[in-house]
Amino acid sequence: MNQTPSLKNQAALVTGSDSGIGKGVALALAAAGAKLVINYAHNHDAAEEVVSQIKATGGEAFAIQADVSHEEEVKAMFAQMFARYGTIDILVNNAGVQKDSKFVDMTLDDWNKVIGINLTGQFLCSREAAKEFIRRGVIEDRSSAAGKIICMSSVHEIIPWAGHVNYATSKGGISMFMKSIAQELAPHKIRVVGIGPGAIKTPINKSAWDTPEALDKLLTLIPYNRIGQPNDIGQLAAWLASDQADYITGTTIFMDGGMTLYPGFAENG
Ligand code: NAP
Repeated sequence: MNQTPSLKNQAALVTGSDSGIGKGVALALAAAGAKLVINYAHNHDAAEEVVSQIKATGGEAFAIQADVSHEEEVKAMFAQMFARYGTIDILVNNAGVQKDSKFVDMTLDDWNKVIGINLTGQFLCSREAAKEFIRRGVIEDRSSAAGKIICMSSVHEIIPWAGHVNYATSKGGISMFMKSIAQELAPHKIRVVGIGPGAIKTPINKSAWDTPEALDKLLTLIPYNRIGQPNDIGQLAAWLASDQADYITGTTIFMDGGMTLYPGFAENG
């Protein structure tokens, strides 16, 4: 068996990959040999920086701006990708936002925004990718699967989160979305897998790690006693997209230093 996950000759789109986890995933997929589309919503310079980093190591990448919650922008992004790379082999639905507030104060705008980007965005991108995977089918010597979809979820797919009801609801929704399309697409040799990160050091949760006090408090939730890094998730995504994970579909892999072990119960036996 080949020990290094290889994504050679495969075209990958990672949504929201100018920052944080998406950037870590894009760099890891490129290191495994994939050609990348770096999608971003606002931060053009950061996206071009990721493209340069990939090119500097001999890889291939280009950036596309698109809001994943807008159907026409998603369709245009896929058209641009197909014009350049001809097809898609790997989609990583990563783009996500938080708009936190107490439940009774939550505006419909903030509810719709989070559901629109975190959940509907995954629907719109997965639909375009799945159509292409089915049209093209398996290509011998590239991958055993016709295509791979990785859905970035969260430990909040299963851990309720007061003050973040829109976010936790979007992640619970991703779980059932991922499983349902996995069931429907498996006969087409398409794999769909979720990743459930715990606390990963990125801009989305800066207030939870940027002071020693905040970090100490966060670490009480993590039995393994360290915050995760974008590259932790990148390595997992590269492996899940490779043929080494060819028999995995329809499940979420949690990567969380034990956050889902309910550490509050450790001393309560
Ligand atoms: P981040 O650094 O804030 O990155 C969020 C990314 O999403 C950015 O690239 C951003 O692009 C993009 N984005 C936002 N709105 C978008 C839209 N409408 N269309 C396209 N892209 C959009 O946060 P992160 O921590 O890496 O989060 C990435 C994913 O991991 C999210 O789904 C999040 O829920 C999940 N996650 C994170 C953690 C964690 O601890 N960090 C834990 C569990 C799950 P711009 O920069 O251009 O706005």
